[in-house]
Amino acid sequence: MLFIIVQFMNNKVSIREEQEQCIFCKIIRNESPGEKIYEDEDVTCIKDIYPASTHHYLILPNRHIRNAKELRPSDKELYDKIVATIQIIVDKQGLDINSTRTGFHWPPFNTVHHLHLHVISPVENMSLVGQMKFKLNSPWFVSTDYMRSRLEEKNEWCNVV
Ligand SMILES: [Zn+2]
Ligand SMILES: [Zn+2]
Repeated sequence: MLFIIVQFMNNKVSIREEQEQCIFCKIIRNESPGEKIYEDEDVTCIKDIYPASTHHYLILPNRHIRNAKELRPSDKELYDKIVATIQIIVDKQGLDINSTRTGFHWPPFNTVHHLHLHVISPVENMSLVGQMKFKLNSPWFVSTDYMRSRLEEKNEWCNVV
C-alpha cells in the first residue's frame, strides 16, 4: 500500500516537474522567449524555430498534455479548439489553406513532450527531408482527421463500457 502511495506521489511530482521544465509551458508562461503569434485562454500559437517551409507554426494547448496519444475523449472540446485555431492562423498569416500541411507527431516520435499541432505552408516549399518528417498519416505524423476519429472511437468505447 505504502509502495503504491509513494509511486503515486512520485508520478505527481514528476508531472509537475515536467511542467516546470517544459520549454513550451515556459513560453506560454512568458518565462522563455518564443515568438507568439496568437494566444487566448486555451491555446497559444508560436513560430517553429526550425521552419520546414516559409511559414511554420505550432498550436499548443495552454495545458500541459504530453502528446496526441494522451488526449482523452474529455479533451474533445480542447481538441476542437486547437484544430479551429488553424483557420485563425491561416487568416492572420495569409496562408493558402489548400497548400498547408497540419498534423501531430505520434509517439514515440515526439520532439518536445508537450502536444503541438504543426501548421506548415506552403507544402511546395518544403524540403524532401521536411516532407518525410511531416509525412501525413505515417507512423510518426498523423492528421487532425485521424486524431478526431481516434477520439470519437475512444468515446464510443467509453460509452459501451
Ligand atoms: Zn508543457
Ligand atoms: Zn514538433
